[in-house]
Amino acid sequence: MRAIFELPRTVLRICDSAQCFPVRRIYCVGRNYAEHAREMGHDPQAEAPFFFSKPADAALSAGPEQGARVPYPSSTADLQHEVELVVALSSGGRALDAAAARDAIFAYGVGLDLTRRDLQRAARDKGHPWDMAKGFDFSAPVSGLVPATRCGHPRSGRIELSVNGVLRQSGDLSDMILDVDALISRLSQQVELKAGDLLFTGTPAGVAALLPGDRVAAAIAGVGSLDLMIAPALD
Ligand code: MN
Repeated sequence: MRAIFELPRTVLRICDSAQCFPVRRIYCVGRNYAEHAREMGHDPQAEAPFFFSKPADAALSAGPEQGARVPYPSSTADLQHEVELVVALSSGGRALDAAAARDAIFAYGVGLDLTRRDLQRAARDKGHPWDMAKGFDFSAPVSGLVPATRCGHPRSGRIELSVNGVLRQSGDLSDMILDVDALISRLSQQVELKAGDLLFTGTPAGVAALLPGDRVAAAIAGVGSLDLMIAPALD
């Protein structure tokens, strides 16, 4: 049956490739670095990391050479950065073990889980869902993706974010409470994963506010870098 109109596809750049990566779903994990869990007022021993999601069209490519601009979102006075290793899947399945989880990985990238922290706190206090705090337009910028055939499967290495040249977040991938393979395996117990799925794997400590005009630079050793400008809010 023919649809009454076509929907645009959300795609991400693949480094050094003429092809792009089509995005199916965006999953994220909360509290996967102990220091960040503590800075948010939680005990990392008491609670395991958990999953949430963003709409697929929240993703956009923000490589160092693209000059990406992310408009400051509406409805917040506390937009915050969270730098995260992003995993892009080219296959999937249900109830994957760690080896099968790794086999599903196509590429890695550097992403920002942009967050309206004031809305997130209000949602927490009222017992409301997080969606409007996490899943807004342009909330998931990602660097060019690097295929695992080129970068391997990084499980340690620096993950950092600077704003206007000042270091804000710094950690190591090996600080993850659940590593990438374990995250994918655990997520696949809850939903069937498929080609095109992205997983944001959690942020190290140092999350803080962004303002229009800020220049954000993030990097993960062995993966790549992301560079973008926070632009004025849309009219
Ligand atoms: Mn996050």
